[in-house]
Amino acid sequence: MSKLIKKKIAKKASAAGCETGTNSALPKKIRYVYSFGDGKADGNGSMKPLLGGKGAGLHEMTRIGLPVPPGFTITTEVCTYFYDNKKQYPPELADQVAAALAKVEKSVDKKFGDRTNPLLVSVRSGARDSMPGMMDTILNLGMNDEVVEAVAEKSHNQRFAWDSYRRFLQTYGDVVMGVHKRSEEEHGPFEDIIEEVKRSAKAQKDTDLSADHLKTLVERFKRLIRARTGKDFPQDPQEQLWGAIGAVFGSWNNDRAIVYRRKYGIPHDWGTAVNVQTMVFGNRGDTSATGVAFTRDPATGEKVFYGEYLINAQGEDVVAGVRTPHPVAQLAEEMPRAYRELLDVRSKLEKHFRDMQDLEFTVEDNKLYILQTRNGKRTGFAAVRIAMDMVAEKLIAKEEAIRRIPADSLSHLLAPIFDRDSVRKATKIAAGLAAGPGAASGRVVFSAKDAVELAQKGERVILARIETSPEDLRGMIAAQGILTARGGVSSHAALVARQMGKVCVCGASALQIDYVTQTLTAGKLTLRQGDYISLDGTAGEVYAGEVKTAASEVVQVLVEKRLDPKQSKVYQEFASLMGWADQVRRLEVRANADLPNQAAIAIAFGAKGIGLCRTEHMFFEGDRIDSMREMILAETLDERKAALAKLLPLQRGDFVGIFREMKGLPTTIRFLDPPLHEFLPNTEPQQRDLAKKLNVPFERIAHRVEELREFNPMLGLRGCRLGITYSEVTEMQARAIFEAVAEVQKSGIKVHPEIMIPLVGFYKEMSLQFEIVHRVAKEVATEQNAKFKYMVGIMLEIPRGAIVADELAKDAEFFSFGTNDLTQTTLGMSRDDSGGFLPQYQELEILPNNPFATIDQQGVGKLMEIARDQARKTRPDIELGICGEHGGDPQSVKFCHRIGLDYVSCSPFRIPVARLAAAQAALEKAG
Ligand code: PEP
Ligand code: MG
Repeated sequence: MSKLIKKKIAKKASAAGCETGTNSALPKKIRYVYSFGDGKADGNGSMKPLLGGKGAGLHEMTRIGLPVPPGFTITTEVCTYFYDNKKQYPPELADQVAAALAKVEKSVDKKFGDRTNPLLVSVRSGARDSMPGMMDTILNLGMNDEVVEAVAEKSHNQRFAWDSYRRFLQTYGDVVMGVHKRSEEEHGPFEDIIEEVKRSAKAQKDTDLSADHLKTLVERFKRLIRARTGKDFPQDPQEQLWGAIGAVFGSWNNDRAIVYRRKYGIPHDWGTAVNVQTMVFGNRGDTSATGVAFTRDPATGEKVFYGEYLINAQGEDVVAGVRTPHPVAQLAEEMPRAYRELLDVRSKLEKHFRDMQDLEFTVEDNKLYILQTRNGKRTGFAAVRIAMDMVAEKLIAKEEAIRRIPADSLSHLLAPIFDRDSVRKATKIAAGLAAGPGAASGRVVFSAKDAVELAQKGERVILARIETSPEDLRGMIAAQGILTARGGVSSHAALVARQMGKVCVCGASALQIDYVTQTLTAGKLTLRQGDYISLDGTAGEVYAGEVKTAASEVVQVLVEKRLDPKQSKVYQEFASLMGWADQVRRLEVRANADLPNQAAIAIAFGAKGIGLCRTEHMFFEGDRIDSMREMILAETLDERKAALAKLLPLQRGDFVGIFREMKGLPTTIRFLDPPLHEFLPNTEPQQRDLAKKLNVPFERIAHRVEELREFNPMLGLRGCRLGITYSEVTEMQARAIFEAVAEVQKSGIKVHPEIMIPLVGFYKEMSLQFEIVHRVAKEVATEQNAKFKYMVGIMLEIPRGAIVADELAKDAEFFSFGTNDLTQTTLGMSRDDSGGFLPQYQELEILPNNPFATIDQQGVGKLMEIARDQARKTRPDIELGICGEHGGDPQSVKFCHRIGLDYVSCSPFRIPVARLAAAQAALEKAG
């Protein structure tokens, strides 16, 4: 290490100690650096929090005897220290790094910065959970004007040495010294120079450049760095190393890494580790290669070795998607020995890690090295298939399969596919790699920014790029589907799309994408920005125009009942998994369903009841809205009763339909809830139309609309306040329910109604409404000479209700937490317009999640716990459930399990997700 650098580090380190005053409080020697190599490792696979995923994998692979080049890991604690201490390092770090580097030098018999026998290293990030492509990596570190000559001499390969040097300059200049693309530039400045040199050399590909051309590149890169930064590229390898370590820690907080962490709920305080490892070279000529592979297919989950490689290439070439790589099976012909070794590694890794692995390998002069292994990202389809297959192969137990499949990924299995007839008629314009399954149609856009803007206007968009980079992340989140002209199945686009469950086709090389003219051309056909395009991410096909989508196989079997279960492996796996989940979960799952057909879908997906039937939705059907409007416009009680009399049979018919579907399962029906203005037309022409239809003066309608108008957040005349102000509405709804009960019971079908009063905060509100319900129940029982059982309860959705829950529980036999309203009333944030500031709230970490999607456990959750405790004091066996949107969110489902609710209720298509999340919650508790 140069004296200057040593001094700098020592100064930084001691400054850190003085500033924080923590130095003396630290234990004598904290280990910040863990070495691995030669079959021995200081760490192991269980140390992900400390060593990061990549680091832990390298240590574990070394331990099990895989060919891993030696190196060391700087822990995530250093990253946290770095950010807590104004970007200074712990005092002990410099010496520990020096010792670990010396160990590596000894192991490979090379010296860092040596002029005859130099050691080159890679410096890579590695967080606890992988964040593919989001942070920085630097290869070939240790190169300088002298070392390059030594490398050329030792390898007898001038071209290789200079290519490695120019790559190093390029990444170091970009990542460490900040030479980035400027907004006015179309390409990065390094790429522009490469293109210029290629043009003057008449070279087609990078590999056509000679050693002399590469020397020119090196000179020009150095000049570029100097011109842009005012500093020379550092020749001292130690300075390079510390610059790279600082840059990798720095990249933990770059914009795309922050966006990624927010999307995947990775805590910002975890930090990244840094791995420094001996370089091996896949770009040493035609006996060298580099590649990535998955031990099983990450898109379908099929048990096939799946991956790709490039001969004579280095690391990032494969994932960057710049050259389209070969399928890994071809390696069997090109490098048979390395391929055999690779197959052996595949099976060792799967047996050892008992999960599908995503590995990076390099072949240097026919010798295989493994540079990384991690649990591979996968689609929902693959997550299910791999887990189920591994149970069958006795690699894992059923419980492990349940734990392992992200509950949300089941929604992939229910996602639409293209309607076969429409596809047949559509114009196929290109084929590419099937990188993210599912079907998507939308308007084509060519930049992430346009994708975000158009999506914000409510359009479905397909983001088409020549290739994607992590900068496109926001656009990829906004798009329904992603299309690239270049790149393989492990390109950035593919990895990210798969994880997000987005439809993706990549490497559709027949497409010409032009960012300047904003067009996509396939043969004679040209699509402009905003035109419709459709992607089949399961088959890897691209179609012009909008193609109709059809239900997934699971939906075809369960809901549409037009596919034989025996014909669908996806369905069979889904069904077994659901069966296992049902065996372990305690929490019951109900559905939010308002109409008989929704009830049928809910049952098909495994609902054990309806947790919320929003009766108002029935009033929007067909021309019923007219009777509803008549009721609202009524000026006298008699007028209102006349209108209600028209609604009664319609509503009764709906209840009959629902009860028939539910066959005795609990069915929670909520009385009218929304403010009445929601049922009235709000534009003048619509109001004039209605006046004509109902034969009433326009002014009367306009006046009533004005009278009922509510301002956000709509906490006026709604919920039980409606039923109290217009008790005849409650009366009609109660009558409709009980008449339906009587009718369905007479036909021999059991009925189990739970009648729910919304927005209750006062005992008296509830009791006034219950009185009507009980009275009408008696009346109908007498009229129909029938007997029936029912429960009465309330929807708990305002804080006062939670606080006085002991009082409410005197009469209420159940509570259902309406967490949509409970969130808006607890947080004082309107559910309808908080979208304007919530993203910033998450960005600033005021809130970890969108509270309308995932329960705010400390606030809303606390109120739920208070309500539970209060209620059980009065009524120990009170039934407790949740019917807000949170009922289908895995994290919230787990919370509901932990606080001991009886059920969650969610939209029918989320039921499988809730069933699995409930099983996972039960297993968490079991330990
Ligand atoms: C709720 O508030 O959580 C709820 C389910 O009711 P709604 O969304 O209809 O207000
Ligand atoms: Mg509500």
